[in-house]
Amino acid sequence: MSKATEYLKHVYEVIERRDPDQLEFLEAIHDFFQTMTPVFEKHPEYIDANILERLTEPERVIQFRVPWLDDAGKPQVNRGFRVQFNSAIGPYKGGLRFHPSVNLSIVKFLGFEQIFKNALTGLPIGGGKGGSDFDPKNKSDNEIMRFCQSFMTELSKYIGLDTDIPAGDIGVGGREIGYLYGQYKRLKGADRGVLTGKGLTYGGSLARTEATGFGLAYYTEEMLKANKSDISNKRVVVSGSGNVSVYAIQKVAELGGKVITCSDSNGYVVDENGIDLNVVKQIKEVERGRIKEYADRVSSGKYYEGSIWDAKLKYDVALPCATQNEIDGKQAKLMINNGVMAIAEGANMPSDIEAIKVYQDNGLLYGPAKAANAGGVAVSALEMSQNSMRLSWTFEEVDDRLKQIMKDIFTESVDAAKKYNINGDYLSGANIAGFVKVADTMITQGLV
Ligand code: GLU
Repeated sequence: MSKATEYLKHVYEVIERRDPDQLEFLEAIHDFFQTMTPVFEKHPEYIDANILERLTEPERVIQFRVPWLDDAGKPQVNRGFRVQFNSAIGPYKGGLRFHPSVNLSIVKFLGFEQIFKNALTGLPIGGGKGGSDFDPKNKSDNEIMRFCQSFMTELSKYIGLDTDIPAGDIGVGGREIGYLYGQYKRLKGADRGVLTGKGLTYGGSLARTEATGFGLAYYTEEMLKANKSDISNKRVVVSGSGNVSVYAIQKVAELGGKVITCSDSNGYVVDENGIDLNVVKQIKEVERGRIKEYADRVSSGKYYEGSIWDAKLKYDVALPCATQNEIDGKQAKLMINNGVMAIAEGANMPSDIEAIKVYQDNGLLYGPAKAANAGGVAVSALEMSQNSMRLSWTFEEVDDRLKQIMKDIFTESVDAAKKYNINGDYLSGANIAGFVKVADTMITQGLV
């Protein structure tokens, strides 16, 4: 065993021993470490600095009680988290997720991924993540507001526009950011730059809502073009029907691709005429309903229960935009049988360890989440810049910057992979490019 392999194995064992139950976090670490051998073989100084033990332990973990009153006047309690993972290259930056599955393992896996994703954007932001096991489903607006106010009452003690800047993630959109910001302002004052994803009337950025989905489409187009193809006339399968999916569907259609599906946690719709985005937006954003209703409104739409990744369908490109581990090895094999040539991840870690192996064994073009979905946080950082300058850029200005950032992320990943003789491996490329920036910066700043 080489010194590099031994070191990677040792650090993984340290983490596993410390947190054996944090399965999602261990999975993210495993995926990341698998791509790191060439870097540690070439750079023993990273081993000497014990950089991986330092990088995998969050700088700070905050856990708190969130008490709130439901509409019946009954006190309810949820658990809140903020993981301030790494501030080497800038203040902690990353979303808040409100979903019943949220626990420390999930917040740590998301925070860990965020460190490298944020580094890849080229903007000065460190990595963090937070959230709660609160379930926004079937809650009234007033309940959401009271929950957000209570959550922020505690969180406000730990965030600040130069220290930690949360944003949205699953279950946290414009409505929630509004309530969170309102409460922050009441407690601490009108520092607009303390949250991103704000509404346009109080410091939000144009194109932030669209950014993750648009960025995913731009990244996919870059990846296809680098392989003598493009998205026009491709059949595209998108999972999910939240913010990432909706704008991925829009941009793929604008680039000439045909998106034939979208989904929610109950089932999926297939529409051979191409998904009608206005219908999806009406159901999900206005009515906050279920995707099943699509088939009642669009005659060419068919609804099926279960996972879209179990469907036998012909398609060229897969864009998983729902949640972590939505694709396992068996489903990845089915994807290959369905004729897929490229996959790019809109959700964070949507492919499990087996699925990634299937993509690699079958030579699929594979754009990993931390590169492909970095557009959201990139435009969050642009929102912070506009807030600091007290001005707003036009939609085109932000969108042009986003396009350029996604192109640069792709190119940087390609170059990093080339440097370590793993051409065409965009997963390793993204991990290495992000890692080297953060690791070098940590070494520059000394042992802190
Ligand atoms: N939650 C998003 C992500 O996974 C965006 C975070 C942000 O804008 O800070 O990157």
